[in-house]
Amino acid sequence: MGQFLADIREHRSFVLGFAPIAALALAMGVGAPLAIQSLGDRIPVVGALLHAIGIAFDPKILYLPLGMVFVTLVSLGIEAAGLGYRDSTVRRILTNRSPSVRTDLFYFLLRVSGLTALIAFLVSFGTFGLLVGWIEQRVDLRVLQHVENPAVQFAAVALAQSLAFYLFHRLMHTKLLWEVHKVHHSAEDYNPLLPYRNHPIDFLGATLLGALFAAVLGAGAEVVTAWSVANGFYQSLVHSRLQWKWKWLESVVITPAAHRVHHSTAPEHFNRNYGILTFWDWLFGTYYAPRGEPAEIGVADRANFNTDRYFAEMGLVVLRWLGRARAGRG
Ligand SMILES: [Zn+2]
Ligand SMILES: [Zn+2]
Repeated sequence: MGQFLADIREHRSFVLGFAPIAALALAMGVGAPLAIQSLGDRIPVVGALLHAIGIAFDPKILYLPLGMVFVTLVSLGIEAAGLGYRDSTVRRILTNRSPSVRTDLFYFLLRVSGLTALIAFLVSFGTFGLLVGWIEQRVDLRVLQHVENPAVQFAAVALAQSLAFYLFHRLMHTKLLWEVHKVHHSAEDYNPLLPYRNHPIDFLGATLLGALFAAVLGAGAEVVTAWSVANGFYQSLVHSRLQWKWKWLESVVITPAAHRVHHSTAPEHFNRNYGILTFWDWLFGTYYAPRGEPAEIGVADRANFNTDRYFAEMGLVVLRWLGRARAGRG
């Protein structure tokens, strides 16, 4: 604790500089939906327009940015408690912000503020909002509507959403989309901020697929919330340096050590451990039991990432993606 306070004192210029930016990002995440909603409520044309493009806001949308901040802070605390402050991400954020960690903070603020979603909306020429709205309103299968037991519902949601995640993640590793997914893999510091380190196009695809599976299942609101919270914590902690070396756990979920294999630069680790539940990787033959720590994590063309030119870097990803997609190269 003494060291933590000493680090804060020593790096107070970062804390004082970062705090207003983080507060602004949170204010945007919470404030923008509220502002748009009140505008839609007051001006019928705006309301109708928002509804038509699928952004009729529910105030519950505010839970998302607040939830992301809460989950991240608690996960950082859990990691610090497990590893000790000296080896924690909190300490690296405070005292040793490598270019990779700075990029992580950028993507975290981008997501919390809602700018990631806004960029996804813009680069898809509005079809992103339209599709999510359409899925939520029209895909009305609700296969779980007669299942009363919330525990059974939760198990069904966990199985289905983890399968959706597995398939989508595999798709991101194909030649067609790897250039976009590289943003996540270009992290050179393994830490609980990484679930948010995704290109807006990656985010767009994951959001659409998640919305589709949720609409097909139609689980109760409490069950959906419970899954979102559990998955939020899982995604943060699986990117921590914690070990979770219990064998029984390794056979249930992809542990932090197993996901570090997924981030490894060693060829024998490529395209392994995509999932949340070990079952899917085992079933599709992509499971790789972690043995020791990977020598290095990251991507081959590291010069293209962590350049501190955050928006330019994000745009260049799209240019390389389109160029390579046409040339048929990964
Ligand atoms: Zn991946
Ligand atoms: Zn990851």
